[in-house]
Amino acid sequence: MTQHVIVKQIPVGSFQVMTYLVVCPQTRESVIIDPAGDEEELFALIQSEEARIKYILNTHAHADHTLGNAKLKHLLSAPVCMHETDDQFFSDRSIQEMSLKELGLPGPDSADIRLKDKDVLKVGMLGVEVIHTPGHTPGSVCYLIHWHLFTCDTLFVGAAGRTDLIGGSLETLIESLEKLIGLPKETVVWPGHDYGTSPSSTIGREMEENPYITDFILD
Ligand SMILES: [Zn+2]
Ligand SMILES: [Zn+2]
Repeated sequence: MTQHVIVKQIPVGSFQVMTYLVVCPQTRESVIIDPAGDEEELFALIQSEEARIKYILNTHAHADHTLGNAKLKHLLSAPVCMHETDDQFFSDRSIQEMSLKELGLPGPDSADIRLKDKDVLKVGMLGVEVIHTPGHTPGSVCYLIHWHLFTCDTLFVGAAGRTDLIGGSLETLIESLEKLIGLPKETVVWPGHDYGTSPSSTIGREMEENPYITDFILD
């Protein structure tokens, strides 16, 4: 059977954010999702995989997930992509100051490419579908690549992202989770932090075990 997609999950930096390298095995065209630091190690991995990075994708604008943007952009000459709403929201000076206070880190530079819901980026033979899932931040997205869903801080294994930070909303997050559980149950869930009993899951398992879904949506 031909392999459709290669997924590498890499815990990065002092926050242990999950960075992902997703490679098209046929063409080696690739994306890196949330480069959160340890840029030299990420760059070495990219080289050893013979991956050609077409896009640097951010799931949202929080500083801990975007720490490596600038350096990797320089090393890889690839554009940084983010949902238009987070790019806009976090470009406001007062929001930036508030977010710096909350996270203790300065936020990212503005994106090179602003994404919208349902955008599809072509990466080799792969399509990267953008699913706007606000709630953790107003412009949080999940990326769906060949039934691998990169949920970042929207959906964790057995939990969901914080909604008490600037721009967060629990009500909106629940609506976003409702959207995600419409995906096939076999869809693999790759979170932004390893907070659960395993580093990845499936939509079907989360529908059975995740209290944000069982208590708020399916009840
Ligand atoms: Zn976050
Ligand atoms: Zn996070």
